[in-house]
Amino acid sequence: MTKPLRSSDTQTVIASFVGRVALFSAAVDCIYFLFFLAVGSSLLAWMNVVSVAMYSTAYYLVRRRHLHFAVVLVWLEAFPHAAIGTLMLGWESGFHYLLLMFIPSVAMTASKRRLQVFLIALLVFLGALDAVSRMWGPMAPIPQASLITLKWLNISFFVVMFSALASYYRQKITKAEKRLKVLATVDALTGLNNRSHFESDAEQHIARYQRNGISSAVVIADVDFFKKVNDTFGHEGGDQVLVAVSRLLKSELREVDSLARWGGEEFVFLMHETELAEAIAVTERIRRAVEDSAVSHQGTEIRCTMSFGVTLLRPNDTLGDALARADRALYRSKTQGRNRVSAN
Ligand code: GH3
Ligand code: MG
Ligand code: MG
Repeated sequence: MTKPLRSSDTQTVIASFVGRVALFSAAVDCIYFLFFLAVGSSLLAWMNVVSVAMYSTAYYLVRRRHLHFAVVLVWLEAFPHAAIGTLMLGWESGFHYLLLMFIPSVAMTASKRRLQVFLIALLVFLGALDAVSRMWGPMAPIPQASLITLKWLNISFFVVMFSALASYYRQKITKAEKRLKVLATVDALTGLNNRSHFESDAEQHIARYQRNGISSAVVIADVDFFKKVNDTFGHEGGDQVLVAVSRLLKSELREVDSLARWGGEEFVFLMHETELAEAIAVTERIRRAVEDSAVSHQGTEIRCTMSFGVTLLRPNDTLGDALARADRALYRSKTQGRNRVSAN
């Protein structure tokens, strides 16, 4: 059975996303710690220890489901870190690249309006940082070779993180697409294909039949007195019957046959490459199997029967034509006492 998409799913996606960002950033800042120790900037080295602590705390908060605080902590780390790094070492250090990582995350989680505000604020922040760092010059300069190394470290982290995020988004989108496809084609209660999936399957089959002329049977099946089942055992009992009938139909038909819940307590199936006598025999076997089966519900047994209408595809038939004939046959089964198979 398929779960509908819920807003808590989005929360889970965001949480796992923030968690990954926090872990990766903590790892990056560990590397910076070693880098600044190596180039003799102990102040910047120890600043990265604070950063690692903040990102680790953010990761812990994500795990404890305090997503909001975790996000605040990530922002509180990233912006001051970029600003202090740039002011101390100059624009050339490339710290500002890391702030660009916020663009996809804000785009993913905030409204369009907030994204616009954020983009303007980010541009103003970067512009101001660039201007001030040029005006003051680097406050704690490091050798040119170290500065270039640092810049490329920052660019590399940005590229790695950005492409990791992009593929992470792609994974999520592919998964959501698959889920939506299932939701659009599968009946949520029974797990059978729904009406529209059956229609597109059957139409393809009919087009093939018009070319090769190999006959196939269309059958409509309807649970007898189902309203009474609901009235006696409640809607839940009725649902249990629908699930049990679906399983039975599925197990009695072949993999190649198309089966769907047509709606309510009605089912439809298309038996590929089947003559009328064989179609009636298979349907009769299904009818007996339903009659002989029982659904246990809150300590009692629910028993029910089904009526069937069978027809063969004819040349120039549309799906609607075949279904109308099957429906007329079903109507005969109902009027002749139910729990029977009629053909048309
Ligand atoms: P007949 O033998 O003539 O087919 O009678 P019936 O009672 O089976 O048919 P009717 O069309 O009068 O009633 C069908 C009932 O099926 C009415 C509707 O509330 C119920 N139903 C439709 N969909 C569902 C469902 O998903 N779950 C349950 N439990 N009941 C449903
Ligand atoms: Mg019915
Ligand atoms: Mg009905």
